[in-house]
Formats: sequence, C-alpha cells, structure tokens
Amino acid sequence: MKKIAIFGSTGSIGSSLLKIIKADQKNFKIELLTANKNYKKLIKQVKLFNVKNIVITDYNSFLITTKLLKDTKVKVFNNFDSLNKIFNTNNKIDYSMCAISGFKGLKPTLDIIKFTKTIAIANKESIICGWNLIKKDLKKNKTYFIPVDSEHFSIWSLLDDNKKNNFEKIYITASGGPFNKLPLQKFKNISIKDALKHPNWSMGKKISIDSATMMNKVFEIIEAKKIFDLSYKQLEILIHPKSYLHAIVKFNNGLSKLLVHDTSMTIPIFNSIYLDNNKKIKSKKINIKILNNLDLKKVDNIKFPVMKVLKNINDKDSLFETIIVSANDKLVNLFLSGKIKFTDISSNLLKICNMPQFTKFKSKKPKNIDDINNLVNYVSLKIEAMSV
Ligand code: NDP
Ligand code: MG
Repeated sequence: MKKIAIFGSTGSIGSSLLKIIKADQKNFKIELLTANKNYKKLIKQVKLFNVKNIVITDYNSFLITTKLLKDTKVKVFNNFDSLNKIFNTNNKIDYSMCAISGFKGLKPTLDIIKFTKTIAIANKESIICGWNLIKKDLKKNKTYFIPVDSEHFSIWSLLDDNKKNNFEKIYITASGGPFNKLPLQKFKNISIKDALKHPNWSMGKKISIDSATMMNKVFEIIEAKKIFDLSYKQLEILIHPKSYLHAIVKFNNGLSKLLVHDTSMTIPIFNSIYLDNNKKIKSKKINIKILNNLDLKKVDNIKFPVMKVLKNINDKDSLFETIIVSANDKLVNLFLSGKIKFTDISSNLLKICNMPQFTKFKSKKPKNIDDINNLVNYVSLKIEAMSV
C-alpha cells in the first residue's frame, strides 16, 4: 500500500489525482489532504477515502470543519506547522503531491520533503521562486522529485538522466490560449468570462488567466530553466493550438525527440504516481490527424507582450523571479475582481519589471522562505500604492 499526501486536494490537480486513486483504492492509503476554504469538498474526500488527517488553512473554514467532524477520529489542523505531528522521518510516506496554487504552496512543499520518498510538484510558483531552497532540501533528504506541469513532465520523460547536458535546446509548446486568433484591436475589450474560457485545458481560475495572457508560458520557461539547470537561450516557446505535442528536446547527437499525449493532466499525474509500476492507463489512439497538422508557430510578442518579461531575467537565480510572480498574481486578482482591464495586466507587469526598486532584486538570491514571503507582501503593497 502506497502512503500518500495531497496538498491542495480540492483543486483541479488534487481532484484529478484522487480520481485516479479511486479506481485503485486498495493500493493507497491517504495520510493527509489539504484545502484552503472548500471544507464541503474536503469533508466529502475525507469520507470517501477514509482520511485521518487534514489541514484547512482558512480559519473560519477550519472552525466549521472542526465542528462538522467533531464526532469522528479525523485530526483537523489549521496550518502546515503541524506536519511533524502527522509524519515521521523514520517512516517516510511514499508520495506527496504539491498542488496548492500560488506562493502558499512553497512552505508545505519545503516542509514535506523530509517526510516523503517522492515529491511530485505541480505548484509552479514554488519552483519559480524557491527552487534553490527546494533543490537543497531534496538533496539533503534524498527525496525523489517529479515535475507535474505537463511540459516539464514531458521534458523530464525525454531526458536521459545518466547523460546530463547531452542536449542543446528544448522547445515547450503553448496552445496560445483563448485569444490565439483574436485580432490585436479586440484585446482591449476582453471580459473576465472570455479570459477564463480555455479552449483545451480545464484548470483553476488563476492559471486560466495566465494562459490567456501567455504569462503561464513565461512561468514555464523559468520553471524549466530551474528544474533542468539550463540557460534561457536553450529554451523556446512554440504555439501549437491543439496541445497534443508538449515538448521537443534537440539532443547533441542530432536526434530530436517529441512527446505527445492527450490534452489531459491525468497523464502526467498518473505517471507520477505509478512511476515504478508499469500500470496501463486508458488513453486514446494516437491522433494522426493532429500529428499531421502540428501547426507550430512562434509567439506573437505584440499580442502577448508579457513575453518581453523573459528579456528581463538573468540566468542566475534571484529574488526578481518572486517579483514577477507576485506582481502578476496581484494584477490577475485585480483583473478578476473587475478593477483593471485584461491589457492592463501586461502593461503594468512590464512597467514593474523595469522599475529600479524592483530590478535591484536581480542580484539577490533567496536565502530562506521568509525572504520570499516578505518580498511577496512588499510587492503587493507597492502595487496597491501605485494605484494601478
Ligand atoms: P486550483 O485553484 O484548482 O486548486 C488550488 C488548491 O490549492 C485548492 O485545493 C485550494 O483550496 C488550495 N489553496 C488555494 N489557496 C490556498 C492557500 N492560501 N492555502 C492553502 N491552500 C490553498 O488550482 P490547480 O489545481 O489548477 O493548480 C494547482 C497548482 O498546479 C498551481 O500552482 C498551478 O499553476 C499548477 N498547475 C496546474 C495545472 C492544471 O491543469 N490545473 C497544470 C500545471 C500546473 P480550496 O479549494 O479550499 O480553495
Ligand atoms: Mg503547463
């Protein structure tokens, strides 16, 4: 029986993982599930999977959950400081999935590393901002890491671990989002509803907006740079509207390998949990029609100005990446609450990327999680003061 923990179990990735486990429940024991506010869904999951420990971080939801579960043996915690009350380094669990959205995913990711044999990370913000901290802890605790974001899972699957640096270039694909074909002059009228309507993927709200602005790809380039220890010039984005091809690796020996799979996060998630098992997943036949029409194109930087953000980043890890993620986070929230226009997300982000008060962080590396958290708060306050 595999012992597992899922951080962000009520979200899109967390729920997909639970669906996979449901079909094979006798082989899994879920030690921990976590959510922020969605206590109704969390309690349903607890009952369905007979879970003994949960963390629910929103205080009001925690109080309600505690009340609703008072006649059960379920231990309900309000924060991630409690992980050492649940887990033990002498008896590590087999697998943890980090699928909390946003920065809040970094702390539990760092906290669980010592308690788990394998860690699958979907939460891109924690990789982008805290990779040097995660990497250090992975090494120290000999924890096996699997990237879950589909492009990164594809690259990871294509690379031969024994021969590091045997490739020259990696291409990741982007669907182009809901506005790939929209003429530039119509961008100023994009509504929240339009921006949330992704043509291929069903995902949480924040990442759906990032896909619409193409900021998601900027993040994925940074994510790939960190995970695979590359330089930015080794990475390129190609638009591929069908989202069937996820990555291309061009090796030094003249071979290039492409990875295709159905447009579903179930494939990387399934493979991350059944890594050493050779279990068969139900999947569609190879789609020759799409393969014959991959339709690859370079990104239009005028329609998607956030691409220019990549020109502002140095190859050396720094706290500037945290500025980019937190500024974008704040701007996406302002858009989702109707306070700014869709096009204001990119224009403000580019402005912020060139302001000396922020660019000075390009020479500073995060030493611990507080450096990152303090900076997130600083950026948020600065953007409020800028009255964007
Ligand atoms: P969702 O918004 O669907 O789910 C987020 C999960 O995190 C929920 O369980 C939510 O709880 C929890 N959560 C949110 N905020 C907090 C917080 N402050 N403290 C604790 N828990 C919190 O996100 P997705 O599943 O779409 O994405 C998860 C991560 O994976 C993101 O970082 C995303 O970028 C990445 N990713 C997602 C992909 C996808 O296809 N969805 C693809 C590749 C990467 P509650 O339900 O209570 O709000
Ligand atoms: Mg992706």
